[in-house]
Amino acid sequence: MALRLLMLGPPGAGKGTQAVQIARDHAVPKISTGDMLRDAVASGSALGMQVKETVARGQLVSDDLIVALVRDRLAAGDAAAGFVLDGFPRTEAQARALDTLLDGAPLTVVEISVPDEELVRRVRGRRICESCGTTVSAFDGDPSVAQACRNCGGRLVQRSDDSETVVRERLKVYWRETEPMIRFYQDRPTFRRVDGARAPRDVYAAIAEAIGSVAAGR
Ligand code: AMP
Repeated sequence: MALRLLMLGPPGAGKGTQAVQIARDHAVPKISTGDMLRDAVASGSALGMQVKETVARGQLVSDDLIVALVRDRLAAGDAAAGFVLDGFPRTEAQARALDTLLDGAPLTVVEISVPDEELVRRVRGRRICESCGTTVSAFDGDPSVAQACRNCGGRLVQRSDDSETVVRERLKVYWRETEPMIRFYQDRPTFRRVDGARAPRDVYAAIAEAIGSVAAGR
């Protein structure tokens, strides 16, 4: 069955990592608005120039711009059978726009919750492979993790918006703009919350169970 899944939760909750695996399991694309914006900034496109400063400060780009980006991406053929959305929606206006785009298609919503101090610790230690985009934690205890990607040997770098100051700003934005949006979904029968302060495989199992229970109407 087609999976249309929203992964909600603060920066550092593990949405991206879990979204990769869940998307692979269901053979649907993972659509991350953060990745799309970072690609645009890296390529120096007009969109990239427009959003560069906002992303660097950890603030939200405009709803109109993001909704247009997602509308185009969802219209691509590979999203017809489903998708995993990571980092969108982040405001109630975006959530309402998504409902309009989906036009009644069923949507599973999973929120990953993690305490703030744990998020700051995780995000400060997060490194991303320059070549393949794999995310690793520099707190794994293995010093090599800070040097080369286990997957492809690529260079591991810190996202420029993962500095402590910007992370705290992103968390502030999250609690102000995004967390209230969760109320928009939380009374739906297809909404589930999972505890994200656990090992990634346990969080993965909880998400898989949540998806299964929504599909079964439990
Ligand atoms: P992320 O990788 O999801 O943490 O996103 C990185 C940055 O991209 C955010 O801090 C925002 O500046 C911007 N961004 C990503 N998704 C959205 C969105 N849905 N609405 C507004 N800004 C976004």
